[in-house]
Amino acid sequence: MINRIPFNNYHRVFSLSDLIRLLTIWFVNKFLYFSNIKTLKAYIATLALLFIVQSVFAFHKNDSLLNRHEPTKKNDDTVQYAGLKNITYEELSFMVDSILDLDTIKQSDINLVNYYSKLLIKEKIRLEGIPASDIYEEFDEQAVFTITPENEFPETQTLVIISDSLGEYFHPREGIVTSKFGWRDKRMHKGIDINLNKGDPVKCAFNGMVRIARKQGGFGNVVIVRHYNGLETVYAHLSKIKVKPGDVVTAGQLLGLGGSTGHSSGPHLHFEVRFKGQALNPANFISFTDNKIGTDTLMIKHSRYGICAYPANATLHSIQKGDSWYEIAKRYGMSVKQLCALNGVEKKYYLRAGQKLRIN
Ligand SMILES: [Zn+2]
Repeated sequence: MINRIPFNNYHRVFSLSDLIRLLTIWFVNKFLYFSNIKTLKAYIATLALLFIVQSVFAFHKNDSLLNRHEPTKKNDDTVQYAGLKNITYEELSFMVDSILDLDTIKQSDINLVNYYSKLLIKEKIRLEGIPASDIYEEFDEQAVFTITPENEFPETQTLVIISDSLGEYFHPREGIVTSKFGWRDKRMHKGIDINLNKGDPVKCAFNGMVRIARKQGGFGNVVIVRHYNGLETVYAHLSKIKVKPGDVVTAGQLLGLGGSTGHSSGPHLHFEVRFKGQALNPANFISFTDNKIGTDTLMIKHSRYGICAYPANATLHSIQKGDSWYEIAKRYGMSVKQLCALNGVEKKYYLRAGQKLRIN
C-alpha cells in the first residue's frame, strides 16, 4: 500500500516578493523623508527590474516543478520502501493499482514498480532451480527443519521416489543397523543408525540440493539434502563435511565422512528421511539388509504414531478385536519375525483394533 507524503513544491525560506516588499518599505521611507525625485525614479526602475526577474524566475520554477516528478533523494519514495526487501505479486499489483489511481504518476513510482518486478523475476529464477519449490515456500539454509503439523497433511497421498526424472536410489552407507526408528530411552529416535568406521564415505541417497551442511547440536556435523519430490535426507555425526549449502548433488555422491560428532557414543551414521519436516521410518521402504529401496512410489498417510510412509503397493491388514501377531503372520504365510520386519519394528507390540499392519 502506498502512503504518499505530501509533495512540498514551494518550500522556500525567503522569496523575491518578500524582497520587493522590503525594498518598497525602504524606498517609501526614503521618498517621504527626502521627497527626492531621483530616489523615486530609482525605486520605480528597481521595482520594474525585480518584476521582470521574478516573472522569469517564476516561469523557470514552474518548469522545474514539472521536472520535479523526478524527486530529490529526500522526497524519493524508494527511500521509504528501501526497508521492504520482499514483496509478493499481490502486493505489487496492489501497488500498481494505487499508483494508477493518482492524478499524476511520479517517475520514482514507476522506478519502484520496476525495482520490485525485477526482484520477483530474480526470485522466480532462483526458485526454478531449487528442488520441490512447489512443496516448500522457501529453501531455508538456516532452520534445520520446518515441520508441517500432522493435521495439515492429507489423509493419504502418494509420492513418487524413483523415476526417470528423479533418478535412482543409492544406499548411503552399507552396514549393520545398530538402532532402529522409534521410541528409545523415552525419546523418539527419528532415524536409523548404521555402524561405520570413522572416515568411511557417506553418500547421497537421491538427486537433490544440499540445504544444510554444518555443525548442529546433537547431530554434530550434519548434511541435509532436499530432493526433487520434497523428501529430505539427513546424514549426521559426520567427521568431515564435503559439500556446502546450495550444492547440486546426485545419488551416490560423497557428502562427507563418517564419524561420531555431536551426541554420539561411537562412529555411526544417523540417517533420516523426512517429508515436510516430518520424520518417516526409512525401514518401511528401504531394506537395510539388501541396501536397496523396495518401491518407486510411497503412500504417505496418518497413523497412530504420526505421519508414516509405506510402499504404495503395500497391502494393509486392519486389526480386528482379538487379532494377534501370530494369527496374522500365519494367515499371510510368514513368521512373526518377518511380519515385524515388514512393519519396521523389532518386536511385536500391543495391537489395537483399527490399527493397520503391512502384510506384503
Ligand atoms: Zn541415530
